[in-house]
Amino acid sequence: MSAAGTVAVQTTDHGVVPVPEPSWCLGVHQATGFRSDVCHLGRTVAVKVQTRCHGEVVLVEACLVQYPYSTGSRAPYVTVDFVGDGHEYSDAGLRGLSERLVGFALETVPRLRAELAAAGEVR
Ligand SMILES: [Zn+2]
Repeated sequence: MSAAGTVAVQTTDHGVVPVPEPSWCLGVHQATGFRSDVCHLGRTVAVKVQTRCHGEVVLVEACLVQYPYSTGSRAPYVTVDFVGDGHEYSDAGLRGLSERLVGFALETVPRLRAELAAAGEVR
């Protein structure tokens, strides 16, 4: 994680807005939206699995998100996206799928919870 600072983001409704930058944000902000669209994004965690039909595919992606000027909740949260369509698995592929899903449940999700807690939202 990098040191937190403040970035200036161009918005269509409030001009240049100073945005305090959390340490977990990758620092990429679109300069084309409303102030309420300003969004902090953390690194994407991807769970990949080997399929018979398409080789290695992304099964799940997750990342820390915050809209600091949202008109709704401004608290950080984690998005979890189960990606893609159905795939074909061999027996070895199913073993890999099982290992990835267990790893996601027992390692990745707890790590995301810790990152979310560190970002200021504990529930
Ligand atoms: Zn940011």
